[in-house]
Amino acid sequence: ATERTALFMFFGGTGDLAYRKLYPSLFNLYRKGNLRTHFAVIGTSRQSIDDDKFRAAVKKSLADSGNRADSKEASDFISHFYYQSHDVTDTAHYSVLKELAEKLDKKYKLQGNRIFYLSMAPQFFGTIAQDLKSQGLMSTDKDAFNRLVIEKPFGRDFDSAKQLNDALSKSFEEEQIFRIDHYLGKEMIQNIEALRFGNTLVESLWNNRYIDNIQVTLSEKLGVEERASYYDNSGALRDMVQNHIMQIVSLLAMEQPVAFTDTDIRAEKVKALRSLRVYNVADAATNFVRGQYGSVNDQPDYRHEDNVPVDSTTETFVAGKLLFDNYRWSGTPFYVRTGKMLADKFTRVDVVFKRPLVDIFAFPQSQNTPLAANVLTIFVEPHAGFSLQLNAKTNDTGFQTEPIKLDYIVGAEKSKDTPEPYERLIHDVMKGDGTNFSSWPEVSYAWKFVDQIRRVWDLQEPNFPNYTPHSMGPAAAEELIQRDHREWIYRL
Ligand code: NAD
Repeated sequence: ATERTALFMFFGGTGDLAYRKLYPSLFNLYRKGNLRTHFAVIGTSRQSIDDDKFRAAVKKSLADSGNRADSKEASDFISHFYYQSHDVTDTAHYSVLKELAEKLDKKYKLQGNRIFYLSMAPQFFGTIAQDLKSQGLMSTDKDAFNRLVIEKPFGRDFDSAKQLNDALSKSFEEEQIFRIDHYLGKEMIQNIEALRFGNTLVESLWNNRYIDNIQVTLSEKLGVEERASYYDNSGALRDMVQNHIMQIVSLLAMEQPVAFTDTDIRAEKVKALRSLRVYNVADAATNFVRGQYGSVNDQPDYRHEDNVPVDSTTETFVAGKLLFDNYRWSGTPFYVRTGKMLADKFTRVDVVFKRPLVDIFAFPQSQNTPLAANVLTIFVEPHAGFSLQLNAKTNDTGFQTEPIKLDYIVGAEKSKDTPEPYERLIHDVMKGDGTNFSSWPEVSYAWKFVDQIRRVWDLQEPNFPNYTPHSMGPAAAEELIQRDHREWIYRL
């Protein structure tokens, strides 16, 4: 592994995400040699703790994520961690941080490379970015890099996202900003590009002549849990569709990039999103449906979960149809759905091919059942893999066809070695590779699409609750696809 050199500054460094995901991911990078001697970490948040307390908490976070935290390797790693208590809204505090950063830069020979990771409430992103620049925390060395990593959500509609982006742009260039969408760090999402552009068999059929429809499902089994107050303000459309689903769909829909580089891939994703049809009021109302879960046994309905108002109209389920007005996809819809408290936890993409134009097995005397559609499924999680459904002959004396499946499932041994999304993404930030992050144009097109649906929904009181826990959502999600004489490939 190539050793990278950087100072990491985690804002919100004592938060849930930092302990649960970010520090364990850094440790993995350390074990693999991507980080070794020339790195340091500053954790900062409002809490007043000292380096020792912070290091003890980092140690616990490593142990909690299944590492041997009492090893020499772990303690060497943790010795690179420093803590500075800091209220991000107090400009004067930044000078203390600056001093510490400069001290660590010398001590560990960090060459001025800085990664500012904002893992806290987005309302602070703008202020932090501004003060990082005005208070001189950004390295001015021309060979050094300054990179800003920010967590979701990126705004709550186009206007607020633009405001946020304008604020960040005062301090950072677009190529210095890494907007996290952790779905883009998932192995099988990255595999979409390998599957498409590495296989003639796949890419030559990847269009409206051969594909009938594409289905993307992000299904969660749990309800809102502890994140209720955040979630109730957001809802499934903002929390899942605007970012993760739109990113997955743009990877599925884009044209072939000139080369496999971040600039080229982003250009194609943006082009795809530009041809996504933004719905008028009537089309938004028919092409998107929402749901909120009801109760079953001792599972309360959404409105009776802790920290949810009893009259909440927040959707915990969305299903919709997306249409691209371009030569490749015109006439081939993308159906998407996501929700909480559904039957199971999984993410998958089903690519449904058109049936043969002529079914020669279906002559009048034949007893054969009509040919099934070929379906290529990309399993993203919990198991990673592909499955291809084909028609084959049954092994008996008559002539019958039946659908069979070619399956490739990544084995347990291999998936154990698969890096966590955050590990991959932090590694990308260290390399300065923006491929698996959302660019501002992508984010803005996604918001414009989603805002239009939100606008229509906000005009109408929904009839909630409307789906049973552990189902696959409301009846309206079935009607949405049945209306087009199709059905969801994954069904109960
Ligand atoms: P958290 O509430 O656990 O942590 C927030 C951190 O910010 C704490 O360290 C707190 O001390 C600090 N903080 C708050 N106000 C401050 C101030 N004025 N000055 C300095 N520090 C202050 O939050 P989290 O769950 O770790 O989430 C962080 C970010 O990551 C959020 O943007 C969230 O949406 C995003 N995110 C979290 C998860 C997750 O699983 N937790 C998943 C995806 C995205």
